[in-house]
Amino acid sequence: MENRENTQRNFIEREIDKDLREGRYKEVHTRFPPEPNGYLHIGHAKSIILNSGIAKQYGGLFNLRFDDTNPTKEKYEFVESIKEDVKWLEADYGDRLFFASSYFDKMYEYALLLIKKGSAYVSELSADEIREYRGTLTEPGRDDPMRNRSIEENLRLFEAMKNGEFEDGKYVLRGKIDMSSPNINMRDPVLYRIAHIPHHNTGDKWCIYPMYDFAHPLEDAIEGITHSLCTLEFEDHRPLYDWVIRECEIEYPPRQIEFAKLYLNNVVTGKRYIKKLVEDGIVDGWDDPRLVSIAGLRRRGYTPSSLRMFVELSGISKSQATSEMGLLEYCIREDLKPKVKRLMAVLHPLKLIIDNYPEGQTEELKAVNNPDNEELGERTVTFSRELWIEREDFMEEPVKKYFRLFPGNEVRLMNAYFVKCTGCDKDENGVVTAVHCTYDPLTKQGTDMEITRKVKGTIHWVNALDCAGAKIRLYENIVDEEKGVYDEEGNINLNPSSLEICSGYVEKELAGAEAYDSFQFVRNGFFCTDPKDSESGKPVFNRIVSLKSSFKVTV
Ligand code: ATP
Ligand code: MG
Repeated sequence: MENRENTQRNFIEREIDKDLREGRYKEVHTRFPPEPNGYLHIGHAKSIILNSGIAKQYGGLFNLRFDDTNPTKEKYEFVESIKEDVKWLEADYGDRLFFASSYFDKMYEYALLLIKKGSAYVSELSADEIREYRGTLTEPGRDDPMRNRSIEENLRLFEAMKNGEFEDGKYVLRGKIDMSSPNINMRDPVLYRIAHIPHHNTGDKWCIYPMYDFAHPLEDAIEGITHSLCTLEFEDHRPLYDWVIRECEIEYPPRQIEFAKLYLNNVVTGKRYIKKLVEDGIVDGWDDPRLVSIAGLRRRGYTPSSLRMFVELSGISKSQATSEMGLLEYCIREDLKPKVKRLMAVLHPLKLIIDNYPEGQTEELKAVNNPDNEELGERTVTFSRELWIEREDFMEEPVKKYFRLFPGNEVRLMNAYFVKCTGCDKDENGVVTAVHCTYDPLTKQGTDMEITRKVKGTIHWVNALDCAGAKIRLYENIVDEEKGVYDEEGNINLNPSSLEICSGYVEKELAGAEAYDSFQFVRNGFFCTDPKDSESGKPVFNRIVSLKSSFKVTV
């Protein structure tokens, strides 16, 4: 996001540029304001990356603020996971961690100010009555019978509300704005309500709590936020945001700008739906690698830079659009391709026996770790008479255009020799249990013969003598893409084969893989070492993404 040409700047950056140019603001402070009521997902990642990126770009501050003004909804178990996710995304809030609930005193003072100015009043209409009085899109609302209560009476009642003299719902504080406004949010919105519920942070101190539309602009103002970036559904609330800021006489008014939410085609994103998959035991917790929760993406092997690239490419805009999972997959491939080693791993093993290779002999061969990145150097791989290959790399009766192993055919064993298939062994059910071949010692990798003689297929392998066994997990979308995300009842259409667990073999150095280490397994894709299920010397690998995709990216 830094140093982008003018034409490439998104609409938020252009607005901010203008604000700075015209002297409306001298600095740029942003915030990410989650409610601590669930794990974060990729949509939140967009907001975190956008807000922290803007602050960084303009040399301003970025706050992480828990929006914990509603004691009925919050579950504090999520505070730590949210902090961890925000840090992991490299959105640096330093010590700028705030809780909206710590502003309750100040918010109360602002409410008193509104009452004293005649801009707010205490109402005794019930929630239903307020709704009824509010009118509709086509009809204006009606005045609250208490709209013109005296300031003294309003002050007395509001204080009594605060002192716990009334039960829940008996009174509310309303802003005195305009009951005939075409914007229903402006028809005397409720600013405070009574709720005798202890709060995680403030305990029993309060039994009145501010509503979101009153609290949020004040939170921004108290923290000195200049640009309050939020999603489109708050566009109609902006006049109310501005009203609160104006009526509360905020010296440096923050400005709300709305952008489109991130949606992914055929992917479960909403907190509510992810929660259901977790609660129904369909996935292995909030960090299941099939989920697009930030914790799930991290465990799958996505990197912060791949997510930043994704947010950048999918764009910041004011019109709602849906992004493709294929774009996210493109980003992680681009990120990992030059960074990680390319090693050999066999997912569905079948024994290959080289009958003319001396029994008991082992030789060491050189393999380049990443042809696109010399800095990753070379490694030694060992070769012997018995290897593991992929089951699909042998066909007793080859189909058309099959260039891998079949009786009579010669292929290249990657980093090693050419081998010619001579036949196979089968069990009593006719299942192939081993493939036989002979090797040609003159075709060793890097020799003239290897260069001049042509074979059409190259396959990978690992040495049966010293490879490591590993659990390798392959994933598909948890949603049945043919049917779409939801059925008629709003339940998720599940893909029954979203997880395949392979008992594979990997090059021996992979036995030492540590949590989150990522690799390319040649021909099979990019894989990440699972942080939860791996044990010392017994890694579990998650496939992040396969190597190819049909998704076209135009950059
Ligand atoms: P969900 O819709 O999944 O329940 P939420 O909006 O309730 O999420 P909050 O904790 O209120 O979650 O959101 C924190 C911030 O993240 C808000 O500023 C919100 O606008 C932003 N946000 C939430 N979902 C998305 C999304 N899909 N794309 C971009 N920003 C999002
Ligand atoms: Mg919310």
